[in-house]
Amino acid sequence: MQQPLLIDQDLYLIDGFDMNIRKRTSIYVLAKEKLTLIGIGPSPSVPYVQRGLQKLGFHMEEVEYVILTHAHLDHAGGIGLFMQSCPNAKIICHPDAVQYLLQPRKVAAVTRAMYGDNFTDFFDPIRKVYEEDIITKQDGDELDIGIDCTLRFIETPGHMPHHLVIYDKETKRLFTGNSAGIRYEQLAQVGVDFVLPFTPANQFDPEAMKKSLEKLKQLPIKQLCYGHFGVTNEPEKALHQVSNWLDIFIDIGEQAFVRGDTYDDLMKQLQQKVTQDLLKQGIMANDDVYLLINLDLYLSSLGLIDYFQKIEQ
Ligand SMILES: [Zn+2]
Repeated sequence: MQQPLLIDQDLYLIDGFDMNIRKRTSIYVLAKEKLTLIGIGPSPSVPYVQRGLQKLGFHMEEVEYVILTHAHLDHAGGIGLFMQSCPNAKIICHPDAVQYLLQPRKVAAVTRAMYGDNFTDFFDPIRKVYEEDIITKQDGDELDIGIDCTLRFIETPGHMPHHLVIYDKETKRLFTGNSAGIRYEQLAQVGVDFVLPFTPANQFDPEAMKKSLEKLKQLPIKQLCYGHFGVTNEPEKALHQVSNWLDIFIDIGEQAFVRGDTYDDLMKQLQQKVTQDLLKQGIMANDDVYLLINLDLYLSSLGLIDYFQKIEQ
């Protein structure tokens, strides 16, 4: 595995190799007085996180907090397995996420439906979490992890109703989970900042996501740290971009739903729009990044059609 990436003094990023893909899912290590992680990834990411912490010189006993932005398995599925190696750690999440952590089969059933035969490779084994290990945080709550580091929790429903982002008041850094979309590090490396909304099934709510993005735009932010993947120092531009694409996704998604299109049809329509945009920025339609983008667009198509089906009922 690679060395954890140094983002700033006392802040590292470990690549969780989610779905065996590089630069897909970020796990952040805040090396403060109280060693804190943000995100853990699915269970297959846990060995990467453990080895990453070892490379940074930490023992598992030193982990004090693991903060989960939301209960989807690609960010939280490995928590039960990880906690087995961290005797002193507490899990921090929104109160409404607790039910999913205690009964991961609830999320697993939906995830299995989305990922099919790949579920075992990408998410197993899913281990139990103990209620006494969980501390809950809601909108406006804070957590001190060091003399110069207080984290504030902000509710940002949309991607999932109980989604929390984490704001570091001193550095004005925001850990976005999935609230501010997916950033493609592969494109950033060739000079193209590109962020798409992530709208998977089955609790996506477009109006809530829009409001959450507006809420984030009110904050003084210097850096966005994405769950997928990496960081940007141009937060305004990135939030603006994801809002624009969200409007496009909702518009195309609604039209597809009205026509009775399949998920695949919708995915292709979104892909066409994205490809047109990226071509203008010099990214060819056969670029490897589409292996990742097309998967995300497929998952987002499921959530868009699911949403329009629900509101019609
Ligand atoms: Zn998610």
